Amino acid sequence: MREFKVTALIKECQPDELPEADRTLIEAAKEATRRSYAPYSKFNVGAAIRMADGSIVTGSNQENAAYPSGMCAERTAAFYASSVYPGMAMKKIAIAAWTKLDRPEGLPYEEYFQSEPISPCGGCRQSLIEYEALYGPIEVILYGREKTYVLPSVKSLLPLCFTEF
Ligand SMILES: [Zn+2]
Repeated sequence: MREFKVTALIKECQPDELPEADRTLIEAAKEATRRSYAPYSKFNVGAAIRMADGSIVTGSNQENAAYPSGMCAERTAAFYASSVYPGMAMKKIAIAAWTKLDRPEGLPYEEYFQSEPISPCGGCRQSLIEYEALYGPIEVILYGREKTYVLPSVKSLLPLCFTEF
């Protein structure tokens, strides 16, 4: 028997420590939250993907009364990106989220964003990893008001993922 550790390199930073292109991507993810349709969870998520040609594709969570029929922001963005730019590498994804649940009314919009980095669900990780396996690493930027995480790849968020394709 042998044991081994799986580790992930995570950079913790503030957005203003990142290059301008990354700050722009974070802002695009934050802006995408405004197009979220989240009447059930009231948790508004936005994702922005920078494509290999520099284009930015965004998505937001889209819920449905039949709950499993809804879709996360990350997959909305990735599937849209692959539909509009088939075969093009996705280089980075930024994710941001806010909610007014358990928060006082009347705060500035910015202050409703999650203070901690928001991280994609397992299904989104698996979906993004498939594009990563095809076209190379997708850097991940997880925005939080108090700190932001940057990871070198989606795989670092989902070790031992399913890659039999
Ligand atoms: Zn998800």
